[in-house]
Amino acid sequence: MMEPKRILAVDIGGSKLLTAMADVSAEGEVSFSGEVRRDLAAGLGKDEIFAAVTDAVDRTLLLTGAGNGFDALGVTIPGLADPKTARWLYAPFSGIRDFPIGELLARKYNCPVCGENDVNACAWAERLFGACRGVDDFLWVTVSNGIGGGLVLGGKIFAGHFGCAAEFGHLKVVDGGALCGCGGHGCLEAEAAGPAIARRYAQKTGKEGLSARDIAEAARRGDPDAREVFRKTGELLGKGAAAAANLLNPEAIVFGGGVAGAFDLFREGLKEKFNADIMTFANKNVRILKTELGYEAGLFAAASLPYR
Ligand SMILES: [Zn+2]
Repeated sequence: MMEPKRILAVDIGGSKLLTAMADVSAEGEVSFSGEVRRDLAAGLGKDEIFAAVTDAVDRTLLLTGAGNGFDALGVTIPGLADPKTARWLYAPFSGIRDFPIGELLARKYNCPVCGENDVNACAWAERLFGACRGVDDFLWVTVSNGIGGGLVLGGKIFAGHFGCAAEFGHLKVVDGGALCGCGGHGCLEAEAAGPAIARRYAQKTGKEGLSARDIAEAARRGDPDAREVFRKTGELLGKGAAAAANLLNPEAIVFGGGVAGAFDLFREGLKEKFNADIMTFANKNVRILKTELGYEAGLFAAASLPYR
């Protein structure tokens, strides 16, 4: 059982912002109200992001009539974050450095603020509200335009010495492969995220400009090239997942993010490569799961933070 709380959930993404009031019951059920969504233009500075956040939060408070009647504010941060102070340390996509967003929100709304890197927060939310309830050791993987990872070990978020643990997307899976945003070659992110799915399909068919979602739809209609691309994507994810399992011996590996909507299309390739590469005796019972948090994963993630 959990302590019921009313939490103002703030999910800051790379290109959008979501806020909502989250009512968490003793059974761990979450109901959201007063949802507000705002697009975030690329390259916004600290002041502009803070203005967008407070505008959305004020709107959620107005819609729900909550006033100050909530227990805490949880905020997910798209980049490196200090979980103790909810300070946004670094965002690779916008150049933000050392932004005390937690402190500013606590002062403005006069409430406790809990912040965390967004992927770590998603992992924690999966443990509280999703597919990993009661699971102490697991890896959470998001596959969308990039690939990220979050680790829960020993029942706690494992952030690593410099806060950068579980960079699952930068495991090298193809020798001399595609150039990655990190500067390396053949990273999982460069070989198996949404843009890589589109690239591989275009190479096979000459059809440019399709999204991973379009290609998933084609695969479901029986397009053999699309099915093959997802199978290959699954094998690459399986190779990375096996490397992670051999290192960590987790109870589960959970896949979320936009491309995880095509989990059914890459599961078979993933499981085959995973089973081929794991040290079988140690990892034969590792469960490969799809997230149960769905479209609102980011809001669940924000709502989970006051329960760390
Ligand atoms: Zn990389």
